[in-house]
Amino acid sequence: MIVRWPLVKKLKNNYIQCLACSRHCIIPPGETGVCGVRKNVNGKLDLIVYGKPAALGIDPIEKKPLFHFLPGTTAYSLGTYGCNFMCQFCQNWELSQAYREGLDTSFYYDLPPKIVVQEAKRYSASTIAYTYNEPIIWYEYARDIGRLARKEGLFNVFVSSGYETKTAWAHLARFLDAVNIDLKAFTDKFYRQYTKATLKPVLESIKEAKKRGIWVEVTTLIIPGLNDSEDEIREAARFLKSVDPEMPWHLTAFHPDYKMLDRPRTRAEELIKLRKVALEEGLSYVYVGNVQTDYENTYCPKCGALLVRREGFKSFVVNLDVEHGTCRRCGEKIAGIWNKKMAIEK
Ligand code: SF4
Repeated sequence: MIVRWPLVKKLKNNYIQCLACSRHCIIPPGETGVCGVRKNVNGKLDLIVYGKPAALGIDPIEKKPLFHFLPGTTAYSLGTYGCNFMCQFCQNWELSQAYREGLDTSFYYDLPPKIVVQEAKRYSASTIAYTYNEPIIWYEYARDIGRLARKEGLFNVFVSSGYETKTAWAHLARFLDAVNIDLKAFTDKFYRQYTKATLKPVLESIKEAKKRGIWVEVTTLIIPGLNDSEDEIREAARFLKSVDPEMPWHLTAFHPDYKMLDRPRTRAEELIKLRKVALEEGLSYVYVGNVQTDYENTYCPKCGALLVRREGFKSFVVNLDVEHGTCRRCGEKIAGIWNKKMAIEK
């Protein structure tokens, strides 16, 4: 589908520039940008995956992961082929790297925005999650779904690598309620070597999304020997604290996948140790994921009461006053969007 505005700039000789992500691809006629889904057709941008998700799911919101956003609700989730990153450890590489790997991309669903919203309602979802691959590369499809979803009382969340431009965030803020941003490491070297991207735009995205009033949680996949040093976690925690000490941070376990098959799984004890480091740096909510521990629960940062217990992807509210977003035991305000009224008013 041809899309024109607002994340496309026309250049001379029918070239176009994409403004969706920080790669700022200049795309000659007949070519696509790095992500493989934004194509220049006679000087116009054709989003080749518009209305064509390749993966659908009915997921708990906790799976995104979003722990401080409408706990216990369901997210109608969709993703397409393509990605602007080339992570060697991608866990959805059959989708994200499908074009680069020359995989068969002839399978997809035919789902115009209106049908996505209808389906989400049919499954009693509260939220539509743009996930499985990087959603900013299919911004216009997400936007058209997101606007309709809002009219129907649904919320919208992105699961993103955080390469959006400032311009993109300005437009996303019009329909996006929450985002989980991957902070894949805290060194530019890691980003360049293992993702073929850079660190700085991701840090800018975390700040920009917050600034725009979107609820933000951050996830770091901890890969043994690559991004798991105490110093690096400390530095990342300091950065996150400087943005918002109450922004939840998920430290999740790696398992070998795609091109990174030579590393062991991350041990739970390692994640627990790094969680402690991040808490020492002053973050209020640090979670451990992809392994079974008690550190997926939310505790009150003031009195230590168990607020939300999590098992698998299920949430059980214990001492959290969901209506007011406070600890029932000590009254402390707990950062998050805990009910639909809060989501509408935020
Ligand atoms: S979204 Fe795709 S085409 Fe646009 S700048 Fe990023 S990689 Fe390039």
